[in-house]
Amino acid sequence: HHHIDHATPEKVHAALAAGHTHADIPDYESFDAYRAGGGYEALTNLRASGNWEEVQAKVLESGLRGLGGAGFPSGKKWGFVRANPGPRYLAVNGDEGEPGTFKDRYYLERTPHLFLEGMLIAAWAVEAETCFIYMRDEYPAVLKILADEIAALEAAGIVEPGYIDLRRGAGAYICGEESAMIESIEGKRGLPRHRPPFVAQVGVFDRPTLVHNVETLHWVAKVCREGPECLNATEKNGRKGLRSYSVSGRVAKPGVFLLPAGSTILDIIEAAGGMADGHTFKAYQPGGPSSGLLPASMDDVPLDFDTLQPHGTFIGSAAVVVLSDKDSARDAALNMLKFFEDESCGQCTPCRSGCEKAVKLMQAETWDQDLLEDLCTVMADASICGLGQAAPNPIRMVMKHFGEEI
Ligand code: SF4
Repeated sequence: HHHIDHATPEKVHAALAAGHTHADIPDYESFDAYRAGGGYEALTNLRASGNWEEVQAKVLESGLRGLGGAGFPSGKKWGFVRANPGPRYLAVNGDEGEPGTFKDRYYLERTPHLFLEGMLIAAWAVEAETCFIYMRDEYPAVLKILADEIAALEAAGIVEPGYIDLRRGAGAYICGEESAMIESIEGKRGLPRHRPPFVAQVGVFDRPTLVHNVETLHWVAKVCREGPECLNATEKNGRKGLRSYSVSGRVAKPGVFLLPAGSTILDIIEAAGGMADGHTFKAYQPGGPSSGLLPASMDDVPLDFDTLQPHGTFIGSAAVVVLSDKDSARDAALNMLKFFEDESCGQCTPCRSGCEKAVKLMQAETWDQDLLEDLCTVMADASICGLGQAAPNPIRMVMKHFGEEI
C-alpha cells in the first residue's frame, strides 16, 4: 500500500510515452479554448490588483464548503492558513479513493482549467510558494491531461516552471486522508498524523498548508468568474447550493449529476434514469462506505452536509450507491469492512485489529450484536483518524435498519 513515487511532470510524461499507461484521453477543454472564453482573466486581474479578503468574502458568500467530504467552509480555511507565517504551501487532494466517488475525475476530464485556475487563485490568496497536486495513479488520462496543461501554463508564462508539482499516488486509500497525503508528498509512508497541530499550521514539510479537494477548486474559479450566485442562488428543501453526486449501483444511468444540495435519494435516482430494470429500491449508501447504509424508507432526507448527522451519518463526498431487492445490506456492510481492513494503515490498534475482528464477527451466521457494539465503540472512540472512527458506521446501521438480515 505504501509505495512512494516522487513523480515530476517529466516522469509522468516519460511513463506515458513509454506506454506504461493505457490512457484513453477524452475530449476536454484545452488551454486555448478556456482562455478564449475568458479563462485566467480572473487570476490575472487578482494578481495585478486583487485583495485576497474580498475574494475570501465572495467564497464565503457562495457557501462553498470542502467537497472532499469534510465540508469545512473554504473561505475560512484560507484565513487559518494566512494567519500563519510563510512560506506556505497549497496541496490538492486528488486521491479520490472513496469507493463510489468519481466526480473529480469527471470534472478533470472535461474542464481541467477551471480546476487549475481555481487552484492558482487559492494559491494567490494564501501566497503559496508551491502547489502540490496529489493525483491518484488510477487516473492515467487525468495525469496526462494535467501534465500537458501544466506545461501549457508554463509556456504561456502563467506559472513559473516547477511552481505546480504534480505527484502520483500509488493506490493507498489512506493517502486520501489529508495528513497521510502530506506524509506521502514528503516521501514517507502515508500514516495519518495526530491533530493538533492542524495542517493549516504544520503541513507539507512543516509549513502552513492549504489543502483543498479538486472539485472545491473548480468552484473557486467559478465563483470568481461568475459570482457567488453560481452556488448560492439554488435553494431546495431549505438547503442552499449545488452538489455533484457520483451515482452508481442499481440505477439505469450511473454517472455524475449536478443537483440542488437539498436533493433527496428519490431526486437522485430520478436524475440517474430511475432504477435499473427489474430492481426495486431497497437501500442506499449516502456518501462513501464510511457513511454506511440507509433504508429506502428514509427517502425524504436532503442529502447535504449537516442533514444526515441526526441519522448517525454524513454526506461525505456524495458517493451515492443504490441497492435493490437483489442486494443484501449485510453483504454490502461486510464488503465495506473488508475494504477498511485492507486499507487500514495499521498504525493504531483499535482500527487495525478492530476491522479484522469486525469482519470475522460479521461473517457469523448470526451477529453477536452486543460484542459488535462494544467493538464499534472502541473503534469510534480510540482510532487516530477518520478511517477507524467511521468504520463502525456500516455495522451500526445494519443493526439499526436491517435487523432481519443478521
Ligand atoms: Fe491508520 Fe486506521 Fe489508525 Fe487511521 S484509524 S491511523 S487508518 S490504523
